[in-house]
This record gives sequence, C-alpha cells and structure tokens, in this order.
Amino acid sequence: MKSYRKELWFNTAHRREYLNITAQVRSALTESGITEGLILVNAMHITASVFINDDEGGLHQDFENWLEGLAPEKPYSQYHHNGFEDNADAHLKRQIMGREVLVAITEGKLDLGPWEQIFYAEFDGKRRKRVLIKIIGE
Ligand code: ZN
Repeated sequence: MKSYRKELWFNTAHRREYLNITAQVRSALTESGITEGLILVNAMHITASVFINDDEGGLHQDFENWLEGLAPEKPYSQYHHNGFEDNADAHLKRQIMGREVLVAITEGKLDLGPWEQIFYAEFDGKRRKRVLIKIIGE
C-alpha cells in the first residue's frame, strides 16, 4: 500500500468564503501516483469545513443565508463561547457543514458523481488556515 500526504493553505479575504478545491485535490492525486484507493480531505481547523456539493453561486448564497439563520454571526454577545473570541457562529457553522470528505479513487481519477465538487468552506477567515489531503491505495 502507498500513502501520500499534502496540505493546502488558504488565507481568505473575507470571514466567510466557499472555495472550489476540486482541481487542487485532483493535482494531489496525480502527484501521489495512486490509481486505486481512497482520498480523505479534511479541514484542520474547527471553524472551517470541507464538503461536496454543486458549484453553483445561488446555492452558495443559500448556504450562507441558511447558516446565518441557524447561527447568526452577530450579535457576538449571544454566545457563551465569545468571551475572548468572536467566532462561536463559525464553530456552529462548521459543525453542521462537516469536517471532511472521503472520495473513492478509481483508475487514477476522483470517482465523483456528475455534479459533485469539493469545497473548502471558511467561516472565520482572514488568516492562514489549512486542509489535509491523505491518500491511501496502490
Ligand atoms: Zn472559538
């Protein structure tokens, strides 16, 4: 069995952003030389997510509105967590959007459905944060 590890680093301009990282994940797979196996992609921070869905701007705005409805950023004082920090909403958003995705690798390709794309979701950005890619297989 072979394994391959890579980190992707991000520093978003805004507090919340959705980045399509499918091409970067595909590049890591090519670098690994692995053609059959599994690829794990996870956020390494507790205020960011990795998820799979459609690359459609309206949907991303819908995610933003939905998450703000569930866990509004402001007022900061509404959260117990916001004593020394202001990111309680980001922890909650990350929890519901998930930590990681696991994708099958078949014949050297990401075995995704026709509309599936991999996203990094930032909920407390404007600083350097990273995603882990771990690939195992042969
Ligand atoms: Zn926090």
